[in-house]
Amino acid sequence: MPIILDGKKVAKEIAERLKKEIKARGAKPALIIVSIAPTHESKSYIGRKKRFGAQIGARVEIVEFKKESKAEEIGARIRQFNADSSIHGIIVQLPLPPSLDRAFIIESVNPLKDVDGLTAENLKLLSEGTPRFIPATTKGILALLDSYHVDIKGQKVVIVGRSSLVGKPTALSLLNRDATVTICHRQTPDLMKETRAADVLITAAGHAGLIGREHVREGQVVVDVGINSVSGGGLAEEMSGRKIVGDVRFDEVSKIVSAISPAPGGVGPMTVASLFENLWEAYKTQS
Ligand code: NAD
Repeated sequence: MPIILDGKKVAKEIAERLKKEIKARGAKPALIIVSIAPTHESKSYIGRKKRFGAQIGARVEIVEFKKESKAEEIGARIRQFNADSSIHGIIVQLPLPPSLDRAFIIESVNPLKDVDGLTAENLKLLSEGTPRFIPATTKGILALLDSYHVDIKGQKVVIVGRSSLVGKPTALSLLNRDATVTICHRQTPDLMKETRAADVLITAAGHAGLIGREHVREGQVVVDVGINSVSGGGLAEEMSGRKIVGDVRFDEVSKIVSAISPAPGGVGPMTVASLFENLWEAYKTQS
């Protein structure tokens, strides 16, 4: 049996530590979540962030905008929060409606309050190896690997997915940790050859069951970032006849590799915990 990289358990440990630290300091870190015409999935992620915040003693406020809202209006509201010293972190829940200029809205967030680490200034710091805030999913992946003592230095890491939200920041962070990194995407000609060459395989493709037994070999560590809603039932996370699965066919791959994160229950909870670690860092810098 492989080692299960249990994100739920590690996230719980992070929550307990944050709760203690926040209480000991008598602090009230505050996070604003800017939510614009949220999808069903976005609403569920926002709910998780709210619950995690409540659990550790942080204030989480949702500021909602309609689909028709203009980027300038949203940007102006974000700038009000930038100027408000009782707010320590601001995130924009993605994805945005396609009509909105994502870069404009994200760049409205003061980089010191950008706890998702997605502004150009914070991505530049990450690319230079001196990150201020590591984007939450990437930070969650790193924390999960650290928690199970997976040493990245000198390892060959293969990432499937090159998005600005997950694939690219994860690649940069792992390069900063002395891994040799390969990023694959839809145009990669021989995905199987690449994934089999990995010591650590990270999948963030958003393609249910993309990675099967033919993509892996013994001894690998597999981190499944994918969150895909498919028809079917029977899982705890089931929603109205649908269930959440990762990019990896867990039943097949877990029989071969040495460690694997489940999805759900792996990177998802780590992402939420890491966001609040960033919020706590932001609070301490600002107070
Ligand atoms: P995205 O759609 O922006 O990017 C997906 C990337 O995967 C692209 O670069 C694409 O080229 C690549 N890809 C897709 N299908 C592929 C295939 N068949 N072969 C090779 N490459 C392929 O998605 P994203 O925002 O990066 O999210 C990726 C997945 O991770 C989604 O399932 C998303 O829900 C999930 N996600 C999970 C968390 C978490 O906390 N666990 C956080 C963010 C995103």
